[in-house]
Amino acid sequence: MITPEEAAKKPLPAPDGDTQTFWKGMREGRLLLQHCRRCGHVQYYQQQLCRHCGGGDLVHEAACGRGTVYSFSVVYRAPGPAFKDDVPYAVLLVELAEGPRMISTYTGGPVEDVTFDMAVELVFEEVSAEIALPRFRRV
Ligand SMILES: [Zn+2]
Repeated sequence: MITPEEAAKKPLPAPDGDTQTFWKGMREGRLLLQHCRRCGHVQYYQQQLCRHCGGGDLVHEAACGRGTVYSFSVVYRAPGPAFKDDVPYAVLLVELAEGPRMISTYTGGPVEDVTFDMAVELVFEEVSAEIALPRFRRV
């Protein structure tokens, strides 16, 4: 059971063994993608194995931060009390320049500005001492 106090706070990521490198990168202003040294596949989010070839030789490299809006949806009804001041907001499916697609949210302007194929760039939003979240704004 979630208390009203808990419901009023936004949930935060809890870095674990698989994701702590990713979240450390976010704190340092870098979106880390995994590159497979065997097949060249680039993936987001972090896993132990390449999702293309199953290889385990993955290295982290920072994304350039550029991408395009592959799809999006505008949220008008807050999913909980913690988000009531945010609506309306746009949830983006961004295709990164490196290939992977990631879900994030739009920042830096009204949701009416968001269009398909719009060029966007990554920004980092500090939400706690440990966590910075990736968001995207129009280029
Ligand atoms: Zn691979």
